[in-house]
Amino acid sequence: MSRFWSTVVKGLTPYVPGEQPKLANLVKLNTNENPYGPSPKALEALRGEINDGLRLYPDPNADRLKSAVASFFGDIEPRNVFVGNGSDEVLAHVFLALLKHDKPILFPDISYSFYPVYCGLYGVAYQTVPLDDAFAIRVGDYAKPNGGIIFPNPNAPTGRALPLADIARLLDANPDSVVVIDEAYVDFGAESAVALVRRYPNLLVVQTFSKSRSLAGLRVGFAVGHADLIEALERVKNSFNSYPLDRLAIAGAVAALEDREWFDRTRQAVIRSRTKLVADLEALGFEVLPSGANFVFARHPQHDAEKSALALRQRSIIVRHFKQPRIDQFLRITVGTDEQCAALVGALRDITASR
Ligand code: PMP
Repeated sequence: MSRFWSTVVKGLTPYVPGEQPKLANLVKLNTNENPYGPSPKALEALRGEINDGLRLYPDPNADRLKSAVASFFGDIEPRNVFVGNGSDEVLAHVFLALLKHDKPILFPDISYSFYPVYCGLYGVAYQTVPLDDAFAIRVGDYAKPNGGIIFPNPNAPTGRALPLADIARLLDANPDSVVVIDEAYVDFGAESAVALVRRYPNLLVVQTFSKSRSLAGLRVGFAVGHADLIEALERVKNSFNSYPLDRLAIAGAVAALEDREWFDRTRQAVIRSRTKLVADLEALGFEVLPSGANFVFARHPQHDAEKSALALRQRSIIVRHFKQPRIDQFLRITVGTDEQCAALVGALRDITASR
């Protein structure tokens, strides 16, 4: 370790968001990617941009994309929209612009692993709030002085979704804090808090094109909120060495937003596959948490999760296992195609029968 490193850097361990192994014939159910491709109309727009657009610089404000997001939701305007290179970048700006206060920010003890990383990187103090015994967020537990609140809905890696009424209750109880709802997985079965943005000036909703629109490789995310919050994000973005969205990202994302038919068809397909996957896992003796996401969180009372994950890997099926207290007996399994889910269930049937 270099003696020249700052204390912040010394405390950082490399963040591994879920590996991307380069094996052939892999059943890859570890990073919650969408098993279906992006909208054919998005692919067409990308090809058009390659043919005609790459000579030109992108619009640094991505106005076309902000307008497309605003018209997708209906009752917001482009000035309520911030865009970034993936929601991870949007979240990075959120931590700097909106969550840095003298009181600690709050997030669940079991939640997206990037939040504590950002806090360390940007010097944001935080306190974690335990999930309840059923691994659900209890909004009443957030009624204490805080410098902001953030959590995913549905939560990751549990998949549990919080009803909109609970989020409204949380906002009512915290009128002086920014409440950030990270909706990476919302389109697979939860209610979006974008519907509350006009009512609550302290609400910021973050979404991504990586999951329900199957464009993880393009890196596009956005935030929706009161224009004051968006302005703070723009200020941070414009004072840092952060890149505007490139022309491909803008063209692909706009076309994907406009293709509602593909969006609905593919997310319904994922939801149907999830229902079957849950039933199949339960038939093998797994306990599966209710999921509103494109993944399930499951544990088997008689089988060690880490060993099961290794045994799956030996059969070229990868899922996610977390070596974290309380959840180290769970597997997080992305909902794949029906064929991928059948391969997973078949392998788990062998594994649970043989030990
Ligand atoms: N939030 C949550 C809860 C996530 O799980 C992820 C990615 N796995 C992200 C945000 C970031 O997604 P992206 O940067 O691809 O938009």
